[in-house]
Amino acid sequence: MSEVQAVTAYVGLGSNLAHPRQQVEAALQALTEFRDSRLLSRSSLYRSRAIGPRNQPDYINAVAGLSTRLDPDALLDALQAVEQTHRRRRDGERWGPRTLDLDLLVYGDRQIDTPRLRVPHPEMANRAFVLFPLSEIAPGWMEIAGIGPLQRLTQVLSGDGVERLQ
Ligand code: ATP
Ligand code: CA
Ligand code: CA
Repeated sequence: MSEVQAVTAYVGLGSNLAHPRQQVEAALQALTEFRDSRLLSRSSLYRSRAIGPRNQPDYINAVAGLSTRLDPDALLDALQAVEQTHRRRRDGERWGPRTLDLDLLVYGDRQIDTPRLRVPHPEMANRAFVLFPLSEIAPGWMEIAGIGPLQRLTQVLSGDGVERLQ
């Protein structure tokens, strides 16, 4: 196999069921065990109001940075395997409550648009619960491929409903 260049990828984590803080902390631990990868950084935990169906519990969110030699599909496989071990059920309503959601936000400067994977995550620019933790760990000058500079994105974003936890 040819040597694959290490890429910096960012992963968004979220949970609003079954002890969300523990779900997110356990998932961060699981990221440290990914093959051909190294956890570079993790944000604080954030609490955010749920999007989608009303009357669901608040979310706990975080973002992690990974240096990885996994290709994007293999990385998504690994993320979905962690979701499965957290007993995430995929039969609920869209954006309904879940024990664990792991989204691949950014994969280096790659733009990917396949049926299974869109990167950068198409909604990330609109989501304070993604951009606030991301800007904690990513350089402010970071350019999100095809979207724009992280710093500009966070400046126009309302922080309503998103709180950084100690
Ligand atoms: P949203 O994508 O708006 O945050 P969601 O996280 O609730 O919604 P899921 O039900 O977790 O959506 O995922 C639906 C599908 O999205 C997955 O099966 C996966 O193949 C696809 N997908 C596309 N792009 C990505 C990405 N960047 N990260 C994770 N999954 C993705
Ligand atoms: Ca998501
Ligand atoms: Ca998801």
